[in-house]
Amino acid sequence: MERRSFIKKAAVGASAGAIAVPALAQSQPTINWRLASSFPKSLDTIFGAAETLTKRVSSLTGGKFNIRAFAGGEIVPALQVVDAVQAGTVEMGHSASYYYFGKDPAFAFDCAVPFGLNSRQQTAWFDQGGGRQLMRDFFKDYGIVNFMGGNTGCQMGGWFRKEINSVKDLDGLKMRIGGFAGRVMQRLGLVPQQIAGGDIYPALEKGTIDAAEWVGPYDDEKLGFNKVAPFYYSPGWWEAGPQLSFYVGIKEWEKLPKDYQSAVEVATYEAHVVMQAEYDAKNPAALARLLKGGVKLRSFSKPIMDACYKAANDVMEEEAAKNAKFKKIYDPWKRFRHDQNQWFSVAEAPLQNYMISHK
Ligand code: CA
Repeated sequence: MERRSFIKKAAVGASAGAIAVPALAQSQPTINWRLASSFPKSLDTIFGAAETLTKRVSSLTGGKFNIRAFAGGEIVPALQVVDAVQAGTVEMGHSASYYYFGKDPAFAFDCAVPFGLNSRQQTAWFDQGGGRQLMRDFFKDYGIVNFMGGNTGCQMGGWFRKEINSVKDLDGLKMRIGGFAGRVMQRLGLVPQQIAGGDIYPALEKGTIDAAEWVGPYDDEKLGFNKVAPFYYSPGWWEAGPQLSFYVGIKEWEKLPKDYQSAVEVATYEAHVVMQAEYDAKNPAALARLLKGGVKLRSFSKPIMDACYKAANDVMEEEAAKNAKFKKIYDPWKRFRHDQNQWFSVAEAPLQNYMISHK
């Protein structure tokens, strides 16, 4: 009897000695999840957000809650992450919600819509402006709880083999551009093409397509578009501040202990902030390298921007008129965008423009 109680005490003592593990974690279950990303590991900034999250969740739970991140196509096709989380194939996903535009254009508000919110404004809308609730109501139909999962900041307008000087130059142009932006550009005669990242370069090289948009300098440089399409246009008005998202299956979410839920929430915030910071820190040097290599930087002219703006508004209004789920998000979102742009025009934009004048 005495010996047994001694062993018991010794065991308690030993585990108390391994003090690195918080007492709370010892009473909690070990959980292993799989996360399907839409992105290849070569996109270290975007795929990296999933790794930021998995590391933080593990460290916050004393190594008890492990989420393993898989690149696009490893266990789930890159553009079917929503489907995989909905079906319970994986517990978690990381993707860009506008990839699911074909299921319902309302998905795009979780990421980006043409002439939408910039990165700061998107975070403000989602976190403090009612966006989270609106999007979670929407995602409930897919059995998903969604979280912010990073932002690239305003993207570039893409790579063009020839200069685009007028709205007429868009007519008949074959461009790799997806979802919402493709539908808007169609109004101006452009022929949108859906092509996966790895197939863009050969299509541009052969002239099967005339232009392609991807992300911005840091990611575009890796794919080498500058060698086959020298004109690099800005801005990517269809992606002013595209937000990435983490998805968790509702059933799995509800099964998690409360402190594990907190760990996931905190980690998504961290991944969200770090991704934008990384892009902002890395893009200037990448752009400088591209320009040194002969890339010709161009801006879309005001008449082109105006024509695209009008077409975008027409498409959004038409969608709102026929799609109740879209309208439920669009109406308050539109008011939010208006107020944000009023406010940004007072302090942010004038100071930014002044600073830019001191090149
Ligand atoms: Ca893009």
